[in-house]
Amino acid sequence: MVQIRCKKCGRELNNKDKYCPVCGNLIKKNVFARAILFIIAVLIVFYIYPKLINKMDEKTHVKYSDPTVSITASLLHNIYEQNEPAADKKFKGKVVSVSGEISSIGKDMIGKFNICLKTKNNLCSIQCFFDKAHKKKVVAQEKGAYITITGRCDGKTGRVILRKCVF
Ligand SMILES: [Zn+2]
Repeated sequence: MVQIRCKKCGRELNNKDKYCPVCGNLIKKNVFARAILFIIAVLIVFYIYPKLINKMDEKTHVKYSDPTVSITASLLHNIYEQNEPAADKKFKGKVVSVSGEISSIGKDMIGKFNICLKTKNNLCSIQCFFDKAHKKKVVAQEKGAYITITGRCDGKTGRVILRKCVF
């Protein structure tokens, strides 16, 4: 914790002191400044940082011409469920073509469009993210339709993530 000192006499104070025990000076805690700092920190963590990462990602190029594997959503999810490190070794950073049924079409906090592919037990087991350029195509898709999506596998964070997707 930051040590607070009395602005008048310089004595060290307890955090809960309202008045300096030596000179009786009223201690103003800068609640407003703290709130502003807190808001800035929240903005950076939840808004600016993801946007920056997204911008960098939009610039990266993926070679779609020859995907490493063509696989069903169920099988890819199964492989990840059984042994995540082994699955990462096989798929992470590589371009894969995944086929499955669309369970939902969504948009995340930073406005990135995504399509979820379902498996028997999971409504969203493979989440496929698209760059802005594909927005129209993504929105035109329908829940329940069968689709094959090609993208870069970015491992598993709750669900298996595919980025830079095309179809
Ligand atoms: Zn004082």
